[in-house]
Amino acid sequence: MDCLHESCSSIDKVWLPHEGHVGIKGLKSHVYCINCGAIKTISTDRPKKASYYINSLSKVDKRIIKLTKVQVRLIVKELERIKDFEDAYSMTRYTQEKTFIMIVKNYCNVSEGYIASILKN
Ligand SMILES: [Zn+2]
Repeated sequence: MDCLHESCSSIDKVWLPHEGHVGIKGLKSHVYCINCGAIKTISTDRPKKASYYINSLSKVDKRIIKLTKVQVRLIVKELERIKDFEDAYSMTRYTQEKTFIMIVKNYCNVSEGYIASILKN
């Protein structure tokens, strides 16, 4: 993201459908960037730092997934390669989780449900 993002004033907020884990949850007012127009993610779905996802890998039950140091390094590399991963204007936690699950699945044979569960701990 090349824009430094500047929030619009609260009276200029736009009403948009709020998409969450269970689909559209009705309209919510969103802040947008007055420079590039990007819509900021609302607080409940604000993205987390990449380190949060990387740390969650350490919570993996070693009896369920055997993650080698090399695999962890490759997962971290892939996360870091995603542009705007931590950008609250273009990324939601929901998208982050889906992306993270997809990447981890590429490196070890484990169910999406299990990866999702370590993120909720
Ligand atoms: Zn912007």
